[in-house]
Amino acid sequence: MTDHSSPDLRDGEVATSADIAEDATVQFIGTIRTPFTTRDLCPRQGDLDGPECRLELLPQWEQALHGITKFEFLDVLYWLHQSRRDLVLQSPRGDGKTFGTFALRSPVRPNPIGLSRVKLIRQEGAVLIVKGLDCLDKTPLIDIKPSRCGYTVQAPPKDADAG
Ligand code: SAM
Repeated sequence: MTDHSSPDLRDGEVATSADIAEDATVQFIGTIRTPFTTRDLCPRQGDLDGPECRLELLPQWEQALHGITKFEFLDVLYWLHQSRRDLVLQSPRGDGKTFGTFALRSPVRPNPIGLSRVKLIRQEGAVLIVKGLDCLDKTPLIDIKPSRCGYTVQAPPKDADAG
C-alpha cells in the first residue's frame, strides 16, 4: 500500500488520503525492453532519434500485429509500474511551485499510463523495434495503435462523423 504520510513529498505537494487502488484490470500484452535501467536514466520524453527499444508481445498477440508495418509512427501505451498513484498536486522542480496532476505528463498519476509516439523501425515476429520511448526496462505494455496522423479509419463512417 502507498504510504500517504511518506516524507518524500516535495514542498507544496499534496497527496490524497482516499483509498488508492494498487491494481489494474487492464491486461498487459507484453513487456517493453529499453536501455534505461533506472528512472534517472530515462529521458523525460522519448526522442524519435533515441536508442532502439523492443516491444515484446506475448505470443498470443503476435497475430494482432498484422498490417502494422505499413505505419511509420505508432502510439504506445504502457503502465508506469513504479509510480506512486496518490498525488493531486506535484512540484516537478521541487521548488514549492505546484501543478495539478492532470496538468502534467508526470508518471505519477492515479492510473499511471504512459503514452509515447514512436517510430517503427522493423518487426521481428512478436517483437517491434521502435525509437522514441522514455520508460524503464521491463515496463509492462498495455496497447499499440497507429498514430492518428497517417491513419485512415477502416470502419464505415457513422452519422456522428463530421461530413
Ligand atoms: N511519454 C510518457 C507520457 O507523456 O505519458 C511518459 C512521460 S514520463 C514524464 C517519463 C518518465 O517516467 C521517465 O523520465 C521516468 O522518470 C519515469 N518512468 C519511466 N518508466 C517508468 C516506470 N516503469 N515506472 C515509473 N516511472 C517511470
